[in-house]
Amino acid sequence: MTEQFALGKENGKIEVMFTSKQIESRIKEMAEVISKDYRHKNPLLIAVLKGAVIFLSDLIRYMKEPVEIDFIAVSSYGASTKSSGVVRILKDLDQSVQGKDIIIVEDIVDTGLTMKYLVENIGSRRPDSLKVVTLLDKPDRRKVEFKPDYCGFTIPDRFVVGYGLDFNEKYRQLSDLCILNN
Ligand code: 5GP
Repeated sequence: MTEQFALGKENGKIEVMFTSKQIESRIKEMAEVISKDYRHKNPLLIAVLKGAVIFLSDLIRYMKEPVEIDFIAVSSYGASTKSSGVVRILKDLDQSVQGKDIIIVEDIVDTGLTMKYLVENIGSRRPDSLKVVTLLDKPDRRKVEFKPDYCGFTIPDRFVVGYGLDFNEKYRQLSDLCILNN
């Protein structure tokens, strides 16, 4: 059995939304814009575990200014694809954000609850500046008002996996971003 069979590509369970090439060229463009905005600065990029890890590692390799990285983990959907609406910090930052230029790096903004909570929480720790970059945005599903400062792709209301995003911890290693069909 090939890897693709094991991952469900054989029966149409998953279909490609964006190829790795499309993602790569969009991330290059985003990194260029962000690098310009942070010229002569040394931003601290905070990736939201676990989904944003691959996005963070690709993004920083195209950034020109020196960056630092840290990680935060919040409660996620778990086995369900529906948002519980409750956000909890499971793993906090290793360092203070006070006086720093912070960029939160997210895989996907859906209801907006996670980012609203994180912006309020990290914002209260007195960074110099705070922005959010997300690879994907599903604005149709918003429950609270939230607009990311930088966004890779705006997508319709579909559940996506791959490129770091999972369903039940599966599919993260797919290099394409795929729609998961029931
Ligand atoms: P929000 O708080 O905006 O509703 O949800 C943000 C989190 O929900 C994301 O970081 C991600 O973990 C999860 N999520 C939302 N939509 C999707 C999706 O289409 N696919 C996957 N794999 N996770 C999603």
